[in-house]
Amino acid sequence: MIIVMNPGVREEEINQVVERLKKVGLGVHLSVGEQRTIIGAIGDRKLVMSMGLEALPFVEKMVPISRPFKLVSREFKPEDSVFKVGAAGIGGDEVMIMAGPCAVESEEQVLTAAEGVKKAGAHVLRGGAFKPRTSPYSFQGLEEDGLKMLALAREKTGLPVVTEVTSQYNVDLINEYADIIQVGARNMQNFYLLRELGRLHKPVLLKRGLSATIEEWLMAAEYIMSGGNYQVILCERGVRTFETYTRNTLDLSAVAVVKQMSHLPVVVDPSHGTGNWRYVPAMAKAALAAGADGLMIEVHPRPEEALSDGPQSLTVENFTLLMDDLKRLASAMGRQLGGHKVAAV
Ligand code: PEP
Ligand code: MN
Repeated sequence: MIIVMNPGVREEEINQVVERLKKVGLGVHLSVGEQRTIIGAIGDRKLVMSMGLEALPFVEKMVPISRPFKLVSREFKPEDSVFKVGAAGIGGDEVMIMAGPCAVESEEQVLTAAEGVKKAGAHVLRGGAFKPRTSPYSFQGLEEDGLKMLALAREKTGLPVVTEVTSQYNVDLINEYADIIQVGARNMQNFYLLRELGRLHKPVLLKRGLSATIEEWLMAAEYIMSGGNYQVILCERGVRTFETYTRNTLDLSAVAVVKQMSHLPVVVDPSHGTGNWRYVPAMAKAALAAGADGLMIEVHPRPEEALSDGPQSLTVENFTLLMDDLKRLASAMGRQLGGHKVAAV
């Protein structure tokens, strides 16, 4: 149930409602928007209805949230959520580009990639240090050494870092190094991990599961938010279908659906979505045109030597060309790329 307060409601009036809800054991989540303050009461709907809150002069109305996800929904928070990461923002009119190698392989590799993507205009460096690989014989990542290399790349370039957490046991370690914590597709429904991330105050990039419905994906975001961490960025990375010419089927319609249903920013990963670098630029542009708030793109200085996902990685040169197109597209759409209104190049 959401309780919509009158415009101009005072803090003590908000507190009065919050206290009454808490007293009867309901979960309370506050959304203070520019126009409206909304209080989400999570728990027994009949109990909330019986409390007579609508009789209070500063309560405008009470509206049941019809969907299973509450805090994620636009009913709870009508305006777009915008998160700041370093100098850049994501959500609203701000578009954030995250780029870098699939996996951190060496200091030289990650520094070259970081410098290249920074020069091209990316806002965040991506790179996996813990890699959830299908085969136990494949490269599993450099673990903490890899995290240190990412920290060094951040120091040298000023780019914030997004990296994947693979288990609830390494949340603290990843939290020490990451500016955005990535939950991989394979872990989207690892509810223990999601609960741990709910305790943090740091943006979480939540990838859509390999065969997750949009509702399951949004419910996974609800797990994180219900723990108190409201900074969730959703990432569409393709789902498994019967098609074999692409690694996954990139579901761009999910962007339109999620933007309607939720206030959270949505990122698209065309690299895992297609599995082939040749298709990445087209799908990156299509994602932006569909309303995505950001992109996550794999870039490797030498894709042919990559220890993971080389076939879907762009060279720095091709990423730079793509960025020129993205800047033009963002400008045409009236969106900002990285905290600045971009002029067409
Ligand atoms: C990755 O980003 O390198 C990755 C493993 O992605 P996903 O979880 O989408 O497969
Ligand atoms: Mn990858």
